[in-house]
Amino acid sequence: MNALSIKVRGTVQGVGFRPFVYRIATEEGLAGYVRNTPGGVEIRVEGENGFHSFLDRLRREMPPLARIDEMRIRKVRPRLVSEFHIDTTRKGGSTVFAPADLFMCDACRAELQDPNDRRYQYPFINCTNCGPRYTLLLGLPYDREKTSMRVFPMCPDCQKEYDSPSSRRFHAEPNACPSCGPALTFIDFPLPVAAPFRVRSSADSTDDTRVAQRRLKPAATEDGHALATEGATEIEGAVASIREGKIVALKSLGGFHLVCDPSQPAAVARLRKLKRRSRKPLALMARDATVIEELAYVSADELGILASPQRPIVLLRKKKEIDGLSPGLDTYGIMLPYTPLHALLLQEIPLVVATSANEREGPILKDEGEEVTDLADCMLTHNRPIVSRCDDSVVRVFRGGPLFLRRARGYVPDPLWVPRLRTQRSILALGAEMKNTVTLLKNGYLITSQYLGDMKDVRNLAYMDEALERFRELFSADPTMVCCDLHPGFTTTRLAERTGKPVIRVQHHIAHVFAVMAEHGLDPRGSYLGVAFDGMGYGEDGCIWGGEFFALSDGVPQQRWHFRYVPQPGGDLAAREPWRMALSYVRDASGELPRAGILQDIPEAKIRAVARALEVGINSPFTSSVGRLFDAVAALAGVAPERMDYEAEAALRLECAVEPTERNVYSFSIVGEEIDVREMIREILRSGEPPRVVAAKFHNTLASIIARMAEVYREKYGMGAVLLSGGVFLNAALLERALAMLEEKGFTVRYPRRFSPGDEAISVGQALYAATQGD
Ligand SMILES: [Zn+2]
Ligand SMILES: [Zn+2]
Repeated sequence: MNALSIKVRGTVQGVGFRPFVYRIATEEGLAGYVRNTPGGVEIRVEGENGFHSFLDRLRREMPPLARIDEMRIRKVRPRLVSEFHIDTTRKGGSTVFAPADLFMCDACRAELQDPNDRRYQYPFINCTNCGPRYTLLLGLPYDREKTSMRVFPMCPDCQKEYDSPSSRRFHAEPNACPSCGPALTFIDFPLPVAAPFRVRSSADSTDDTRVAQRRLKPAATEDGHALATEGATEIEGAVASIREGKIVALKSLGGFHLVCDPSQPAAVARLRKLKRRSRKPLALMARDATVIEELAYVSADELGILASPQRPIVLLRKKKEIDGLSPGLDTYGIMLPYTPLHALLLQEIPLVVATSANEREGPILKDEGEEVTDLADCMLTHNRPIVSRCDDSVVRVFRGGPLFLRRARGYVPDPLWVPRLRTQRSILALGAEMKNTVTLLKNGYLITSQYLGDMKDVRNLAYMDEALERFRELFSADPTMVCCDLHPGFTTTRLAERTGKPVIRVQHHIAHVFAVMAEHGLDPRGSYLGVAFDGMGYGEDGCIWGGEFFALSDGVPQQRWHFRYVPQPGGDLAAREPWRMALSYVRDASGELPRAGILQDIPEAKIRAVARALEVGINSPFTSSVGRLFDAVAALAGVAPERMDYEAEAALRLECAVEPTERNVYSFSIVGEEIDVREMIREILRSGEPPRVVAAKFHNTLASIIARMAEVYREKYGMGAVLLSGGVFLNAALLERALAMLEEKGFTVRYPRRFSPGDEAISVGQALYAATQGD
């Protein structure tokens, strides 16, 4: 008789891991138990033999959503038990494992479509392998009583499944059926006088729970079929409204979608007006791959990510133009249905616009009372409250894997284990300002929130408060240290200082580079060339940085190279009006004030005003930002709008314009620690080349600069991996060119895969940086 204790770290809670262990242990004739612990899962097995096969199967056959980061096995003394059981008692301490939201599995899908199943067409079907998680969570450990499903007592049938280790729904916390679970409601606005929803809501989840309880549930029946039919009627109401050209607010997982028919330009135009977005791309939801392939080119990798349980929005190259969806760009953002409710709706109507229900820059709305009525004509909702609001994730597929434009639903929180961390301290990082997130370091894991938006907007600050509150409730977050950006004017900086805890301020681009180390499990004290290209970050010299190269070792920068500083006329306004930077670069390169007419579409008076500001240096901070350089070149190439509707619009258009066969580069020089592109600007002005050639040569030039800088670094510091970071690396044309050149020269390169290259990753890098410095 032998016995083993196995401690597993990783994504092993809320993913059907314990029933899986139960099954293979029983099949191998082993006794013992499996239970959740604060660090993951603890297994104890004993018997005569079968250990080898058990351990092998543990790794090879684990549930699709499980991930093992580390397994510690040791021999222990047998307790001479005769059976294997799942121990549901909890042992000490708080856990960090909050599971993410996922699309329904194939088994649930089959039930959904089976007229003889008791959950036929039931929009809230789920099991241990699938369904809502994070957006329903009130606390941890993950139990039904700590989800918004606690207001729905299970019927005897559901309870039986929940209690049976052999059922696919053993401890499936959101388990429900038509006789005991949530139900749909369709409401045509204006709301009836006795509407069950409050007109305005605080984001308070207990209030939502009361709303759910007060909601009239449709008449319950014994077999539940009447309810399913009733649900079908609700869906028909929504479908009819979409066909009539109306805008439907649809309650999804992390908030409401605004849904309309993309083939009706008037509906799309009205949606844009309500959201106050003139050109920002609107996402589509398509029934299946066939519908997508009519609209866009889809590779096997892209299809794999589209159909993954996380179901993000994927950027796909247009095959056919639908007016008004993504003007000026060559891609659509498309997703597949990600709740059973979506699947039922899309059965009736194969393609819809499905964009987050929010007003320009505001957070996604999650409760019926949150002014949803201002943004839509009617509402398809239900009485399962959303606890955490969470946007759809957005990715583009690059070399077979995702690059995150927005990391949220499906991918959060997914704690990241940092293997080399020596500190046991708990640290909270509040991030920067735009596209913000917060990150908590606890028990050696980095837990990063969903995308929270721009902190300049008080509505998003309230959203951050919600996320922090959730962190306190889920992870008992009680940090001993807080991190923020160097920028003195950021709201997050002031909030950090107000906590009364020790504050570590981390330079923006250093944080970008550390985020890449974190996600690749690199030693933060190793030697690297850190490249950070983005829009703006507060520099240590008070200038606006954004085109930085750092020689890093021992956790600190030894040297910094940067793009030559130029004035940013109008300050923040220059980040919205790309032609301003064009004038600044032209003046810097030619030594003369730019003449009227150099930028075709810009009125002469505006050009003269900015030229004057440049001359006397009014409101023109100096910047090394590559984001602003993109704006300037886009304007000079004639592809930039006069005023951008959304961040990076000009840069995206310039990337779309790239002629893929063009191989030439512009001139540049590296003098001391300055990268000088004045000659490039002069060549662009002289040549009069078409936009696609300018765009391609510009991308080639930036990649050459990175490759050249890597050589400069190698000559001085020896070998070290190159880490690419910052929002500019969402540009696949640049990333591909840079990687190709660096790889050809034999460099090891790491770039963001699990987090966004952009400012969403700042909090991640801040937390790792602080943990490293504090040791
Ligand atoms: Zn399932
Ligand atoms: Zn039930």
